[in-house]
Amino acid sequence: MTQGRKTISLIVPFHDEAGGVSLFCDAVCAVFAQLPEYDFEVVCIDDGSSDRTLAGLMRVAERDPRFRIIEFSRNFGKEAALTAGMHEATGDALIPIDADLQDPPELIPDMVAAWRDGAEVVLARRADRSSDTFFKRNSAALFYRLHNRLSAVQIPENVGDFRLMDRAVVDALKQLPERHRFMKGLFAWVGFRTVTLDYVRKPRVADKSKFPGWKLWNFALEGITSFSVVPLRIWSGIGAIGALITFIYGLVIVTRTLLLGVDVPGYASLLVVVLFFGSVQLIGIGILGEYVGRTYMESKNRPLYIVRKRHGAKRGREP
Ligand code: UDP
Ligand code: MG
Repeated sequence: MTQGRKTISLIVPFHDEAGGVSLFCDAVCAVFAQLPEYDFEVVCIDDGSSDRTLAGLMRVAERDPRFRIIEFSRNFGKEAALTAGMHEATGDALIPIDADLQDPPELIPDMVAAWRDGAEVVLARRADRSSDTFFKRNSAALFYRLHNRLSAVQIPENVGDFRLMDRAVVDALKQLPERHRFMKGLFAWVGFRTVTLDYVRKPRVADKSKFPGWKLWNFALEGITSFSVVPLRIWSGIGAIGALITFIYGLVIVTRTLLLGVDVPGYASLLVVVLFFGSVQLIGIGILGEYVGRTYMESKNRPLYIVRKRHGAKRGREP
């Protein structure tokens, strides 16, 4: 690394992306060629792929020393892969990017230009999500609205993990010790001077999406419970209102029984009330469980991921 030259690190999570490896590598190398004044490093995380992804990456890394591979011992998930990438990358700026070319590498020169002009975070916003399914688009919009209502940390809408972060931002992120890593939330939490660029989200180049509906549901729960305790608090309110209604209803029944005698045909209303409050309690317990479970997992202090092997040279921060 020459003195004064800056290095940009790409962080790329790969999980069963065999069909797209060489397409991806060619696309980013073409972009690197447009930015000769910077050095590049590509930290590829093989997140427990069961196909030929690793072999494909090894082939690329053999030819091109800019590519490094972190091989996980199993599938730990995209958030863990991004965290690993942040710890391993040595660049002055980091760019997490998906391996399926849905995040266009062609945007990188614009991001770098904004960074050179003083931005510490350059967000890439999806101007058009028409390549996503109707369900995914609408559920995403609903999630952002709900999350930003409930939480003090505002997540910018239609912004994914694709972004550029200055070294200072990465060092701040590395200090966050939590195990449940909802990256979008953590990114927003650290703050910093931010610039937003728009891009059009393209369909995947190869293989299938690794995020089916139920995974996204869990992801949304993760996001909200990681950054807000409103769902916990709501229950004291709902409980209080329920107790008040029940108390009034109880008074009515008792008074009526005292005045009019025993009223046998109360079966339907009784059952409705019992079932209703039963289900309300179950929901409340479920929400409590989300938080208790989270505390439990955090308290175990397990590492976020296990690396089987590293391939390719790790360059020092200083020459
Ligand atoms: N990915 C990963 N681990 C996983 C699931 C996904 O590293 O357990 C990677 C995947 O290889 C891709 C990125 O995360 O590079 C985004 O995944 P995908 O394209 O399936 O998500 P979508 O674009 O559908 O939201
Ligand atoms: Mg994708």
